[in-house]
Amino acid sequence: MGEFDLIDRFFKRPVTRTALGVGDDCALLAPAPGMQLAVSCDMLVEGRHFLSSVDPVRLGHKALAVNLSDLAACGAKPLAFMLALSMPRVDETWLDGFSRGMFALADAHACDLVGGDTTQGPLTISITVFGEVPAGQALLRSGAQAGDDIYVSGTLGQARLALEVFRGKLSVPAEVFDVARCRMEQPTPRVALGQALRGIATAAIDVSDGLLGDLGHVLRQSRVGATIDTAVANELLGLDGLSPGQRLEFVLAGGDDYELVFTATPSARDAVQAAAQRAGTAVTRIGRIESHPGLRLVDAGGKQLDQRYASFDHFA
Ligand code: ADP
Ligand code: MG
Repeated sequence: MGEFDLIDRFFKRPVTRTALGVGDDCALLAPAPGMQLAVSCDMLVEGRHFLSSVDPVRLGHKALAVNLSDLAACGAKPLAFMLALSMPRVDETWLDGFSRGMFALADAHACDLVGGDTTQGPLTISITVFGEVPAGQALLRSGAQAGDDIYVSGTLGQARLALEVFRGKLSVPAEVFDVARCRMEQPTPRVALGQALRGIATAAIDVSDGLLGDLGHVLRQSRVGATIDTAVANELLGLDGLSPGQRLEFVLAGGDDYELVFTATPSARDAVQAAAQRAGTAVTRIGRIESHPGLRLVDAGGKQLDQRYASFDHFA
């Protein structure tokens, strides 16, 4: 099968929300009046971001999910995406699974595949997403203020737990592993929550490299510091059988979670909970923004801990 047959068969579909999709030199996007385009790009490389053995349906889902997660963090509504795909050979079974997984998630968010590029090479998937957000209302990393509460959505640490099991460093009951593996391989981007938090959250980011590392980006860009309550954070991975230290490491520095971390003023607590309810995603208050720079961890009694957690860095 040639390059163009492959594109026609697996990736060309009618568009619903854009002016022109796959097949011409450019796609044409039609954002609604008064909207800004939110654009983000994320790449997945075999052996680096996913195991070679992963089910292509799940990989198709994840490749788009990690990109939708960036739109969620900005409070943007998905509109369209582009797919740049490098693969060693044409494997129809793989392409069928990959495209099905990807389009199932795309359809769930009414997000059109509008173009891309296809080439031979090591298996690498690069997606660029386009979303729309009312002008001036995007959630940014730079808006946190001293006194704000810090929240995180959903649960943290499951993806890391699954990775440790895959690496043979941890063993857990099969049903625990199944849930964790699903979180690792098919994360749920918090798209509805991000949009519900517009006008409520002062800053937001999605957790891809680990809670502390990603929150650190918010702190630096907002020129503030924070204290995190580790007793509350500990509850975010509701599992028995882990040592307390291990559990805290998975929660604070696990990575690959694709939850949202965001800040909001204490006067917005009811509004935050109402937004979470509208979005159908639980959120937990885990700490507070302070003017003193740096990130501090405290235990249930308020005593400061001195552990350090490194978040993921490809070149560290
Ligand atoms: P060009 O050479 O003009 O850049 P290509 O021949 O690479 O265009 O691609 C032809 C059409 O197919 C374009 O509309 C392009 O956006 C689209 N396309 C190529 N690869 C993919 C892909 N993996 N997924 C979706 N669309 C793709
Ligand atoms: Mg061209």
